Amino acid sequence: PYAAIGVEINVDTVSAVATDLAGERLLTWRRSFSGGESVNQGVAGVGAIVRRVVSRMAKEERQVLGLAVAVPGLIDVQGTVRIAPNLGWHDADIGGDLAKALRDPGFPIQVDNDANLAALAEQRFGAHAGASDLVYLTGELGVGAGVILDGRLRRGGRGYSGEIGHVQLDPEGPACHCGRRGCLEAMAGIGAVLRRDPSPAEIQVEIEEVVRLARAGDAGTLATLGEVGRSLGQGVSILANLLNPEVVILGGYYVPLAPWLLPAVHEEVGSRVIASEAGGCQVVASTLGYDAAALGGAARVLDSVDSGRLPG
Ligand code: BGC
Ligand code: ZN
Repeated sequence: PYAAIGVEINVDTVSAVATDLAGERLLTWRRSFSGGESVNQGVAGVGAIVRRVVSRMAKEERQVLGLAVAVPGLIDVQGTVRIAPNLGWHDADIGGDLAKALRDPGFPIQVDNDANLAALAEQRFGAHAGASDLVYLTGELGVGAGVILDGRLRRGGRGYSGEIGHVQLDPEGPACHCGRRGCLEAMAGIGAVLRRDPSPAEIQVEIEEVVRLARAGDAGTLATLGEVGRSLGQGVSILANLLNPEVVILGGYYVPLAPWLLPAVHEEVGSRVIASEAGGCQVVASTLGYDAAALGGAARVLDSVDSGRLPG
């Protein structure tokens, strides 16, 4: 039997998923960074995770067909990470580095944008699986869109489409890690929810705390989430006016925050999207969980093999 592996590099976590040819999960792995740790300690850590997954697959006598790695940044058509604003990476050959760390793994390694791969996961496994026009929006420190139109993932001319997170909403808005100001992700990313620039190790616990406060009806927290929801709704409206997706799926940390974000998002979309009265677009929370991009990595590997031609 065979296996496909997807790995997701995030600012605060690394996740790995292995599936069989039918896309059934064989293994799920997630590691959060603690203390001052981050993925910037090098790809050695990521390589170690992949090695473990590969050896588990070997133990189960599964041949690994490929690995696709999701990175939160702009990946060119060759697979080089050109800019990953929240990791501070520029021109990183993470695929090449991983191949070296794995000492010639014997299977292809692909690198793709995190939102792109998460969109592939939604298309194959999500609550709107099979939708021909959908957009996945990441709710991390960064905000990015994976765009599927007419059934296909759209990468753009050089591979950099979907950078909605760096569309400016407010010229006087907060600083963004890309060096600009008032970008959607600076107004509606996790930094805006937490109202500061969190260290990677804090993000998950801090978001859990926000959820607790929101449940308890804390006025300040509810006001912040309302504000973030409005900015997010502005971003979603741009996507909806431009692309007319059937559905925009909010992922990552937007999922636990959805009960408080969605009302403001729906309100903004209702008033800003010209097609609203003519059957606008749905906005929903993802059902796939935090490792959607890793799962999408496995989906991309499966998409790139012709299973009919595999021996056995
Ligand atoms: C990056 C995108 C990425 C998004 C979500 C943004 O800052 O520019 O490429 O998809 O964060 O991680
Ligand atoms: Zn920006």
